[in-house]
Amino acid sequence: MTERRHFRSIDEVGIDSIRRLLDVTDHMAEVSRRPNPKVPALRGRTICNLFFEDSTRTRMSFDTAAKRLSADTMTLAVGSSSVNKGESLRDTVETLSAMGVDAFVIRHRTAGTPWQIAEWTNAAIVNAGDGWHAHPTQALLDAYTIRTRLGGATSFDGLSVAIVGDVRHSRVARSVTQILTMLGADVRLVAPRTLLPPVPMAPSSHDLDDVVGDVDVLYLLRMQSERMGTGLVPGGTEYTDRFALTPARARRLRRDAMVMHPGPMNRGVEITVDPSTLGQSLILDQVTNGIAARMAVLFDLLGSSGTLEDGSNV
Ligand code: ASP
Repeated sequence: MTERRHFRSIDEVGIDSIRRLLDVTDHMAEVSRRPNPKVPALRGRTICNLFFEDSTRTRMSFDTAAKRLSADTMTLAVGSSSVNKGESLRDTVETLSAMGVDAFVIRHRTAGTPWQIAEWTNAAIVNAGDGWHAHPTQALLDAYTIRTRLGGATSFDGLSVAIVGDVRHSRVARSVTQILTMLGADVRLVAPRTLLPPVPMAPSSHDLDDVVGDVDVLYLLRMQSERMGTGLVPGGTEYTDRFALTPARARRLRRDAMVMHPGPMNRGVEITVDPSTLGQSLILDQVTNGIAARMAVLFDLLGSSGTLEDGSNV
């Protein structure tokens, strides 16, 4: 029996699979642009969304991705489920598995949950965000968005990227740093000292004004207030004054720079300029590409023999 594959973190997946998945994402983006953006590739497969934390775009995006591949979907509304009667995570997973689930898409506030759940089910596991740890489909869609903007470049050698803000509490920062570094980019973290991770994952600095006029990619992070202890950032407007994308900083961006944010945005905190007025913003492209990237991941785990069954091959 071949061992079940999962998509749980960028480092676990590795660079060869990432490059392959970027190519598959490109194919899925083409499917998504068709008048009828649907292929029968996962007909008869069941994908269960298990979100134990709030989400707008990731949950909707996975749901749409599964439907575009013709899979059946189950979504557990955790707030109105037996989890509220004290049912354990393990019993919840085993119960749903017994209904015949081929893949679980999991978001949980605790780092490592996707690895734990893989011990309890034969289904494939996709990590949709575990605590502060990883958000690998966000990283895949971001790498694909940059690659598309670069005309399909397969290497990001020489690309300068600044990831700005609350790096410490951000699973997005960790996964995006990993994928962009693997693809050859020079990633720099720009944050107050208190919002950098205890173990360095890339070179860092503390002055956004030093880099804002030079970078190819300015990747803004949401301030993760729900994960933050007190006293990590000064009150008042000091954080915004030093680390937000303000209209004055936006004027210093290169015309061909890319401004990105994983959402949800805290307007007035990490961004005070309206991104819809910025020619450099790729924020809505990220959302659009998220569906294609998640289609690629689900198809890679559950599809058979590289065919979408609509006559095209991947
Ligand atoms: N949506 C992303 C996540 O779930 C980013 C964020 O919430 O700040 O990690």
